[in-house]
Amino acid sequence: MSKTKDTTKPTHLQKTKKEEKSIDTRNLKLTYSDGTKAVNGISLQIPKGEFFGFLGPNGAGKTTFIKMLVTLLNPTSGKAKVNGYSLKKQPQVIRETIGYMAQETNVDGELTARENIRFACEAYGVPKKKREKRINELLELVELSDVANKRVKGYSGGMKKRLDVATALVHEPPLVFLDEPTTGLDPKSRKKLWDYFERINAEGRTIFLTTQYLEEADQLCDRIAVIQEGEIISTGSPTKLKQKVGGHILEISFDGDKQKKKAAEIAKKTNIYDDTKVDFTEKGIKVAAEKNQISGAALLVELQENNLPIKGFNLHEPTLNDVFLTITGKKIKDKKEEK
Ligand code: ADP
Repeated sequence: MSKTKDTTKPTHLQKTKKEEKSIDTRNLKLTYSDGTKAVNGISLQIPKGEFFGFLGPNGAGKTTFIKMLVTLLNPTSGKAKVNGYSLKKQPQVIRETIGYMAQETNVDGELTARENIRFACEAYGVPKKKREKRINELLELVELSDVANKRVKGYSGGMKKRLDVATALVHEPPLVFLDEPTTGLDPKSRKKLWDYFERINAEGRTIFLTTQYLEEADQLCDRIAVIQEGEIISTGSPTKLKQKVGGHILEISFDGDKQKKKAAEIAKKTNIYDDTKVDFTEKGIKVAAEKNQISGAALLVELQENNLPIKGFNLHEPTLNDVFLTITGKKIKDKKEEK
């Protein structure tokens, strides 16, 4: 998705920024005390204003990486600058210039939304004179003004997450970290949150988002890094990543496993294509090939001629799932598919 955005940044977002990069890490590593190499040498530069996605399966190292950048965990080795400040030497300044929405919702159910945001204002040192105006603005941004004086424990999961976003923004940080912000939400609430994320990014803020939802990364991000076992294995815009797969994907389904295997053998050996990549799907096979749009039909005929009755087929452009499969050889577990 190509996005047009207003690049003129409000002045309040500029004052904490000393350089053009919001995030700059060099060979950052973190090994937990039990020996788990959670982040294994990540070098990443993220310019100001970018909506950046960190995409990877459970356990890939996404949260550990974020926790280092928000100063909650000390790297084992490597260097990093956040908003131009050194992670090692200026952690306090970094904390003042970032917003962080952790995976677990961080709001107090006993308080109202207004009280929760007020509490965050106090914690972040928002001047008293500015507080009420800021609280009202944020309540409006996440559309909670109507329920602002109700206790949060009666809110839905989506409303709590929205309040969480608001509390992370009280001090107008130029960089916001969102760690799997929509996990567990229904599609409607998720879409709503995407709108807020796009809005805060359009205000000039850099967003660093981690997600397991391919669709989320595809919709929102200017650029994505795919992370696996603590390392970045591919980076690019969603479009660019999809182009890496090359051509179109032909998915063919069959009645049984035997047929699937035979079909895969034929698809790998066929001289219809110059270059193919064949994988199994739940019900059949998936063939990625440059010339699929023209030659896919010939493969279907070849399979039929080999007594493999085709149950169904479809030809589509590569999705991020195909990208993931092509670069890692594994399928990312999309929450939607899990259900
Ligand atoms: P993600 O956010 O991508 O799901 P994490 O950063 O949470 O990944 O985890 C990366 C790896 O580090 C995983 O193998 C996980 O089991 C391990 N891990 C996470 N936290 C700890 C911890 N406190 N101690 C030991 N290992 C951990």
